[in-house]
Amino acid sequence: AAKTEERGGVRFYSPLMHADASTRLLIGADLRLALGRDEFEIVYQPSVELRSGRIVAVEALLRWRHPERGMLMPDEFIPIAESLGLIRLIDERTLQAVCAQMQAWDRNGMPAVRVAINASASTFGHRGFVEAVRCALQMAALPPSRLLIEITESAMLSLGEETERKLHALHALGVGVAIDDFGTGYSSLAYLKLPAVAFLKIDRSFVTGVPDEANDVVIVEAMLAIAKSLGLRAIAEGIETEAQHDFLLRLGCVEGQGFLYSRPLPPAEIERLLRPSRKHAPARLRVVPP
Ligand code: C2E
Ligand code: MG
Ligand code: MG
Ligand code: MG
Repeated sequence: AAKTEERGGVRFYSPLMHADASTRLLIGADLRLALGRDEFEIVYQPSVELRSGRIVAVEALLRWRHPERGMLMPDEFIPIAESLGLIRLIDERTLQAVCAQMQAWDRNGMPAVRVAINASASTFGHRGFVEAVRCALQMAALPPSRLLIEITESAMLSLGEETERKLHALHALGVGVAIDDFGTGYSSLAYLKLPAVAFLKIDRSFVTGVPDEANDVVIVEAMLAIAKSLGLRAIAEGIETEAQHDFLLRLGCVEGQGFLYSRPLPPAEIERLLRPSRKHAPARLRVVPP
């Protein structure tokens, strides 16, 4: 079936998902130019404490405003950027832009929420990654604890000394690490016990099935149990319904993200959500009845 993507409430077909080889070549050539032309934009999706609806974090998600093709989603260009060896440049640019945004928010007196960025396996795997993170934080004069780096299990595939050293270095720096799309990879679970790994993001494919699909219920319960026993904070991805919210809350999941609370939003709209106001208590996206 054709993959559709929701944007602004309108369902539409994403033409690049099944792009042929020549289209991918064209996109690849445009990607090299896009960095120089500053065509990337960052949107931010709130992450809420399920119990209160309070926004505790935002996740930075990349968009590409292509001059002819319009707004492109990560699934349409990140795999191409990865295959061309361009993703590290893109991710490091995003890291810098996100840190600059956090600094601007701090200066405007916005509540200091955690901000997560996504790093592809090859970005994380590059030897200069920890240094790039340290520099970006320093340039923006940010406390490292405000930044969370999301990496998928595939980045842990080779949990060798090098990966472990890198995770320790991030931990020593004070930056948190989250395992993204947890449960969809093929790696061992050995990395979960490393002190650097503090967050576990339960993949949307499992969240979608609760509370009706018995198998997904069992899997999500098991993931929450692992998180709890190892002292990790579980974040459920892709919560779209009240039933999913209620179920996850009942099972002790602390935090979640999803269209039920908010779509990814441009910085100005995030500011409106987060801005402290005297009339309204701290930003809450969905207040759960007591
Ligand atoms: P992810 O890190 O797992 O991000 C969550 C994705 O799920 C986002 O898609 C978000 O818009 C979407 N989402 C959130 N809540 C819901 C929901 O309730 N329902 C549904 N159907 N979807 C929801 P997006 O922005 O298209 O990003 C897709 C993936 O692209 C991300 O998955 C991440 O792996 C990757 N990505 C995004 N930005 C970057 C980046 O700067 N660098 C790298 N390397 N990868 C990125
Ligand atoms: Mg992510
Ligand atoms: Mg994810
Ligand atoms: Mg995902």
